[in-house]
Amino acid sequence: MAKHRARKRFGQHFLSDWGVIDAIVQAISPSGDDTIVEIGPGQGAITEPLAERAGHLHVVELDRDLVAQLQQQYGDRDNVAVHAADALQFDFASLGSDLRIVGNLPYNISTPLLFRLLKFREAIIDMHFMLQKEVVDRMAARPGTKAYGRLGIMLGCYLSVEALFDVEPDAFSPPPAVTSAVVRLDPLPPGTFEIADEQGLSTLVATAFMQRRKTLRNSLRNTADSRDFKAAGIDPGQRPEQLAIADYVRLSNHLAGKSR
Ligand code: SAH
Repeated sequence: MAKHRARKRFGQHFLSDWGVIDAIVQAISPSGDDTIVEIGPGQGAITEPLAERAGHLHVVELDRDLVAQLQQQYGDRDNVAVHAADALQFDFASLGSDLRIVGNLPYNISTPLLFRLLKFREAIIDMHFMLQKEVVDRMAARPGTKAYGRLGIMLGCYLSVEALFDVEPDAFSPPPAVTSAVVRLDPLPPGTFEIADEQGLSTLVATAFMQRRKTLRNSLRNTADSRDFKAAGIDPGQRPEQLAIADYVRLSNHLAGKSR
């Protein structure tokens, strides 16, 4: 394969550790019935083992040079389709339903990409991603911990999050500056949380966490009064990290009902 120079603006860190590649493929455990979508295949570190095992494999790559290499390598493989596209714009629903999404993602776009994928959650069976460990810790955080906050709450409304294992920088070429981790995401059954106003919930959570050390009474004083807290069954003397996802949903739904 032609030598490719890693491009920083595309967040390129190519996996080069076979043990890690193997562990990722094992975690995904692809089968002949699966339609797998790989975001950012790069030079194909996990693409090849996926292509060997999956029924269908779609890869979505932004870098045109890498797309050309992938087309050369996979052009005549019946079960592989190469899409030259930006994953942030890509219509994942066009690939059908029951999708399994995977990727060693470019870390600079990981949060917007996760929120974009939420829109397609009904077409998704599960997702496995390599991300910055710090981001995985926030995604998987439980109430009452330092890492618990906006990201974990907003994703947790729709997905269950399981951190699988850490990956050190030397597993990549070039190595990233930070430790990475592999995370598994499973869409929750529809209706697990009934959310009346998604934007309202997002704003409520953002406002509550603007000052982590303040009580909710204080941070939310322009949003909710003592009667609202009482109606939602929440003690306003608590700090934002003490509330569970269901508490935020309840308070938000109460406020949404009031403003109608
Ligand atoms: N999966 C490969 C490459 C990881 S590097 C490996 O593990 O070795 C991240 C990859 O995502 C690169 O190939 C980069 O070009 C690609 N990429 C960056 N931004 C993208 C975007 N918006 N949409 C699709 N792919 C993107």
